Amino acid sequence: MAGKLTETTHTRARRLMPGGVNSPVRAFDAVGGRPLFAERGKGAHLYDIEGRRFVDYLMSWGALILGHAAPEVTAAVREAAWRGTGYGMCTRVEAELAEVLMDAAPGIERLRLVNSGTEALMSAVRLARSHTGRDMIIVFAGGYHGHADSFLASAGSGLATFGIPRSAGVPDALADLTLVARYNDADSVAELLDEHAGRVACVVAEPVAGNMGVVPPREGFLAELRRLCDESGAVLLLDEVITGFRVGPGGAQGRFGVRADLTTFGKIIGGGLPVGAFGGRAEIMDRLAPLGDVYQAGTLSGNPVVAAAGLAVLQKLSSDPPYERLQALTRWLTDRLQEMARAADLSLRVNRCGGMFTVFFSDAPVTDYRSARAADGERYARFFRGMLERGVLLPPSPFESAFLSAAHTEGDVEDTLQAAEGALVETAGRP
Ligand SMILES: *Cc1c(COP(=O)(O)O)cnc(C)c1O
Repeated sequence: MAGKLTETTHTRARRLMPGGVNSPVRAFDAVGGRPLFAERGKGAHLYDIEGRRFVDYLMSWGALILGHAAPEVTAAVREAAWRGTGYGMCTRVEAELAEVLMDAAPGIERLRLVNSGTEALMSAVRLARSHTGRDMIIVFAGGYHGHADSFLASAGSGLATFGIPRSAGVPDALADLTLVARYNDADSVAELLDEHAGRVACVVAEPVAGNMGVVPPREGFLAELRRLCDESGAVLLLDEVITGFRVGPGGAQGRFGVRADLTTFGKIIGGGLPVGAFGGRAEIMDRLAPLGDVYQAGTLSGNPVVAAAGLAVLQKLSSDPPYERLQALTRWLTDRLQEMARAADLSLRVNRCGGMFTVFFSDAPVTDYRSARAADGERYARFFRGMLERGVLLPPSPFESAFLSAAHTEGDVEDTLQAAEGALVETAGRP
C-alpha cells in the first residue's frame, strides 16, 4: 500500500542509516510493510509524505499528550527559539519547569533535567549505587528503561519486538550485575533480594509497564516493592518516563499511592522535544557534582527551548486537566474493540490505564512479560496493517502502548471503531 515516494525515501534511508532508521521499532519490521514517513501532524492526526491522514495512537511514543503541534507548545518553542536556541548557561525557565515537576511529585526534593529517558535512568542508577555502596540492580522482564548498558537484558520495547534477549556489546561483568524479576510478582523480587542480600542498590520498575504492551500493576504490587526496598535498604527507582503526567496529574505514584526514592521522567515533559529528568530525595540527589562526587553533566541539559515546551505542556495539563476525558475515551474505545472482537470470534484482551492501552490477541490475561509474549503477534501485525490501510496508526509492535491525547475527539474514536470493524474481520480470517 506504500506509495512511490515512500518507496524511494525508504530505499534512500536504508543506504544512509542502519535499517533506515534512527530508532529500531520505527522500521515496522514487527508488523511488515514499509515504515511510515511522517510529514506533519495536527491534533490527533498524523500526515505522511504521501498526504495520507491517520488517526494517531502512537503520539510520538506517548510524548504528545496534548496532540501534534499543540498551539501552546509551538508558541512557547517559537518564542524561546527567537531569543536563542541554547546558551549552556543557567536560565529561569529550567527552574520553572523543575518547580512545576516537583509540585506534581511530592517525593521529589531535587531534580535534574537531561536530554533523554535513557540518560535519566543511567544517572539515577549511578546515584543509587553510590548512595547504597552496592552494585546490583533488579529490573523486570519486559520492562524498558532506555538503552544504557545495565538495562539491556530481558528488556521490553524494541528488544522484545526484535527478539533480542540481551544486547551484544555489553560486558558480562556489567550484565551480571543486573538481576531480572517477574513483573507483578513481588515474591520474585524478594527471592533475588534474599539471594543477593546486601548487594542490591535499587529496584527499577515501570509503575505501569508500558513496554511489553500495557500491563498495569496488580493491587498491592507497588506497595510490596516499597516494603521490600525499605526492608533491604535498596533504593526504589520508579521509571515514570511514560506514566508521568500520563496516568494522572501525579503520575503513577499519585494514582497508586506509592512513593519512590528516585523518579525518572521523559516523553511528556518535553512536549515532543528531547528530554529526560530524574529526581528524588535530597539526601540522594545532593550526591551529584558539584555538591558530591557522583558525576553527571550535559552540554544541552535543561535547554531553554525544550524547557519552555515542557513548561507549556505542564501548565496546560494543570489548567485544563484532560485525564478524566482521556480515561473515558480510552474505556469507550477499548470496550467497543473487545465487543467487536468477540463478534468476530477473536480472543482479544485489553490492558489499559488512563489514556494508554494495548490490545493483546490472547486467550489468557496478560500480567507479565511471559503472558505478553504468549499473545499472538502475527494477529497483531495483521490487525495493525488492516488499521493502517483504513487510516489508523497503532504502535508498530505488539509490545508497545497505544496513547490517546487531549486532541482525540469522539469523532476520532468513531472513525477508529469503523476501521476496526473491517480490520478485525480481516484479522480473524486465515492469512
Ligand atoms: C521511552 C522510555 C525510556 C527511554 O527514554 P528515551 O528518551 O527514549 O531514552 C525509559 N523508560 C521508559 C519507561 C520509557 O518508556
